[in-house]
Amino acid sequence: MPRTLITGGAGFLGSHLCDRFIAEGHEVVCMDNLITGSTDNIAHLAGHERFRFVHHDVSQYIFLEGPVDNVLHFASPASPIDYLELPIQTLKVGSLGTHNCLGLAKAKGARFLIASTSEVYGDPLIHPQPETYWGNVNPVGLRGVYDEAKRFAEAMTMAYHRYHGLDTRILRIFNTYGPRMRLDDGRALPAFMGQALRGEPITVFGDGSQTRSFQYVDDLVEGIWRLLHSGEHEPVNIGNPDEVSILEFAQEVVALTGSDSEIVHKELPADDPKIRQPDITRARAVLDWEPRVDRAEGLRRTLEYFREQVRA
Ligand code: UDP
Repeated sequence: MPRTLITGGAGFLGSHLCDRFIAEGHEVVCMDNLITGSTDNIAHLAGHERFRFVHHDVSQYIFLEGPVDNVLHFASPASPIDYLELPIQTLKVGSLGTHNCLGLAKAKGARFLIASTSEVYGDPLIHPQPETYWGNVNPVGLRGVYDEAKRFAEAMTMAYHRYHGLDTRILRIFNTYGPRMRLDDGRALPAFMGQALRGEPITVFGDGSQTRSFQYVDDLVEGIWRLLHSGEHEPVNIGNPDEVSILEFAQEVVALTGSDSEIVHKELPADDPKIRQPDITRARAVLDWEPRVDRAEGLRRTLEYFREQVRA
C-alpha cells in the first residue's frame, strides 16, 4: 500500500487531495499547522484506518517514521490577504518548508511534488502563459512574499532533481475554486458568493477588467494525480483556459444566486495581475489532461457549499 504525505492537507486543495489518495487506496499522512487550514475539511476522514493527521509546521524539521512513497508539498497561505497577513510564514513555508519536504523525500526515497503557482508569472507580459515564460514578478511588492517563495521552491526542487537525482514534479496551479474554500479568505469567488448570499454589495476591485481563468477543484485533482504518475520533471500548468473578466465573473455570481446585491468598485490592490490564462499545451500532451467541469457547473456545485457555510 503506497504511503503519501500531504502537507497543507487540512487546507482547501490539500483536503481534496487527501480524499483522492484515500479513495485510490493510499495510506495518507496529512500534515498541517492549521494557520489557514481547518480540521473541518478533514473531519470526515477522522478515524479512517488509512488516514492520520499530524499537527506540525513543516518550516520546522519533519520527523516521520516509516516508509514514504510520495511527498506532496501543498502547505502555504495561498490567498492574497492570507499572505499579506502572514508574509514571513509564507516565505518560510515556501523556502524552509520546501527544503524540509525535499530532505524528507530524499531520506525516504520518495517521489516529490511541489504545488507551485501561476503567480510565478507575476503580472504577465505574455498571454496566455506557457511554462517556458519566465515571468514578470515584483520581488519587493506585497505579493513578492508568495511569488518569490514559490519561485525559490521550484529552483530548490530542480536542484534536488539534478544534484540528488530526486524524482520530482512541479505543478503550476492557476486560480482554482470549489467547496472548502474559506468564506473569508479574501479571494474573488468566496467574497462574491458570501456577499451575494448575505445581500451585501459585491466588491469588485478596480474597474473589473482584469481577467482570471478559473478551474474547478476536481479538474485540478485529476491533473495532480496524472502529473504524479507521469515522468515529467519540468513544470506543468494545470488550469482552465476559460478566461473571464472579474466584473463579468461578479455578474455571473449575482445571477446564479438570484441576489439583488449591487456591484460596487473598490481600489485595485497593488501588483494585481491584469490578465491570466494558462497555456495547457504541455498538460494536454504529457498528461492527456484537460478540464472537464465548466464554470456554470462548477459555480453551482460551489454555491451549495457556501449556502451551508453562510447559514452556519
Ligand atoms: N477581487 C475583487 N474583489 C474581491 C476579491 C478579489 O475584485 O472581493 C479581484 C482581485 O483584485 C483579482 C481577482 O479578483 O483581480 C482575483 O483575485 P483572487 O484574490 O481571487 O486571486 P488572484 O489575484 O491571486 O488571482
